[in-house]
Amino acid sequence: MEVLKLDSEDLTNSYSEDKFDRAVLKKMNGDQMPDQVLSKKIDKFLPLFHNDGDKLLYDGKLCVPKNSTSTVMQLAYDAKTSGHFEYLKMLSRLKNYHRKHKSQDVKQYAKGCMVCQQKKDYLGKKLTYPTSLEVPERQ
Ligand SMILES: [Zn+2]
Repeated sequence: MEVLKLDSEDLTNSYSEDKFDRAVLKKMNGDQMPDQVLSKKIDKFLPLFHNDGDKLLYDGKLCVPKNSTSTVMQLAYDAKTSGHFEYLKMLSRLKNYHRKHKSQDVKQYAKGCMVCQQKKDYLGKKLTYPTSLEVPERQ
């Protein structure tokens, strides 16, 4: 399974529009945070964030800002090279990306696909050949 590679330009542009990512970047710069609750929340995770050029990384994974989530999902799922794989495969394609509630989002995205709902066969238990039942003895 090929891991998705993204042009990070799209992502970095929207960090400033993502409340959490923007706050993380502020904290990394040592800027004052007016929102103390958010500030404390970020403190817990701050050691795992890194700035690589204009990319924001969390635990070595590229952070996906809120505005770019659907773009990333589309690339991992709808694109010609992606092929509407089920959610675990989609998740593995996105293993280099970080987004809060990622697996939940991915699951929901794959589940909500109209193309799959109309075209894919039922993926439940496969039918097998019928087997005969034992004939009961007469009493
Ligand atoms: Zn689909």
